[in-house]
Amino acid sequence: MRRLRNTKIVATLGPASNDYETIRALHEAGADVFRLNMSHGSHDEIRERHRIIRQIERDLDSPIAILADLQGPKLRVGAFRNGSEELEVGQRFRLDLDEAEGDATRVTLPHQEIFDVLEPGQKLLVNDGKIRLKVVECGPDHADCEVTTGGTISNRKGVNVPDAVLNLAALSEKDRDDLEFVCQLGVDWLALSFVQRPEDVQEARSLAGGRAAILSKIEKPAAVKSFDAILEASDGIMVARGDLGVELPVHAVPPIQKSLVRKCRNAAKPVIVATQMLESMIESPMPTRAEVSDVAAAIYEGTDAVMLSAESAAGSFPVEAVKTMDSVAKSVEDDPLYREIIEASRRVVRGTVADGIVAAAREIAETTDIKVICCFTESGTTALRVARERPRVPIIAMTSKRGTARRLALSWGCNTVMTGELERFKQAVVNAARAARVGGYATEQDQIVVTAGVPFNQEGTTNILRVAPCQERLIYATDPG
Ligand code: PGA
Ligand code: MN
Repeated sequence: MRRLRNTKIVATLGPASNDYETIRALHEAGADVFRLNMSHGSHDEIRERHRIIRQIERDLDSPIAILADLQGPKLRVGAFRNGSEELEVGQRFRLDLDEAEGDATRVTLPHQEIFDVLEPGQKLLVNDGKIRLKVVECGPDHADCEVTTGGTISNRKGVNVPDAVLNLAALSEKDRDDLEFVCQLGVDWLALSFVQRPEDVQEARSLAGGRAAILSKIEKPAAVKSFDAILEASDGIMVARGDLGVELPVHAVPPIQKSLVRKCRNAAKPVIVATQMLESMIESPMPTRAEVSDVAAAIYEGTDAVMLSAESAAGSFPVEAVKTMDSVAKSVEDDPLYREIIEASRRVVRGTVADGIVAAAREIAETTDIKVICCFTESGTTALRVARERPRVPIIAMTSKRGTARRLALSWGCNTVMTGELERFKQAVVNAARAARVGGYATEQDQIVVTAGVPFNQEGTTNILRVAPCQERLIYATDPG
């Protein structure tokens, strides 16, 4: 599907978006990537959603990325004898390894790793930070806490431990099981929740064994601290503002978002800004002004993608939410100030021949009246470099690898077209011209820029740039060799 915007939209699927018609409507309305949340839904449900997405991809001949989001080491308290208890500010409350049901004075926290590192003065947050506890005294099997923000605590509520780096396996038993399941199904991206260190990413990468690209969700202060190394180890990033805003004060999140988005662009790796982007649209067909501003702000920053969570998975207006993001993106991208901001924040990167070629491709395209940049890319890295340039003209990523086409659906401005295996550069230029015309990017009167690596089918070799007429007859007439 040709989009008239560069920013991509990720839509989470769930009970509100389970069937062929709805998922197709979401894609047609603008969802480029579908997120399967492994915290909800059985393997059978996930398999069915996956099947439907691939069916739509075939029916519309439009590459779609599927992102499977692994739950990660989610920490929870145990159960209460009465189901729940009221905690009052100032009272003591104990967390321990005792398996007995909880009461007004204590509850099980069945995670030895927390007690191993906890220190007096540190905080524990329960139920998305609604309840706050401060550790007063602790040992290898317990922590006595003071309640600093009270509320109702109930069975199996989530716990965040923002102050400590936990010696937790990055992937739980369930995550490993889910990872293998989705890799066998065939997903394009794996999102890792609660990443703490680059080793967590490497572990998932070795389990995935090249079957999916790895996206790290930044939702812990430790991940923000080690961000550079985590980015280096990852193929993409999600600014997971939900948990990040629990583990850190909410006002700390916007500067982190800006910094992460910029670093990802410089690294030529896609970044998603996620959570509560259009939260009110779970129940209302109209977003709030503040939500629209938030989506717009992420786009002005240059994010690759914006994401819907419950809005598309469980809300009453999933398609309207996608349409809202689509129109906000178009409106921002049409603003001359957007171009100004994007260009002012462009960093000159001169590391490789490919960096020079993509910079030149943009330069030439913007200097003269070129309609589109067509880049041949096998691994996708050349397309990511072109995307990093954030050119004014559209990008067509030409690839013979379906996996590459799908993965690029997450990246800013990447429209992908499948090609057959190529042998000669002339053939590549002819294919590019055809793709540009068929896609409506250029007419026979226009010129296009083509980049490629010769010999073909060898990754990481981009070494040719050609300005070509968008007409086969002329390409043959003017071909130098
Ligand atoms: P989640 O991640 O929706 O899986 O919790 C996103 C976030 O925390 O923002
Ligand atoms: Mn999260």
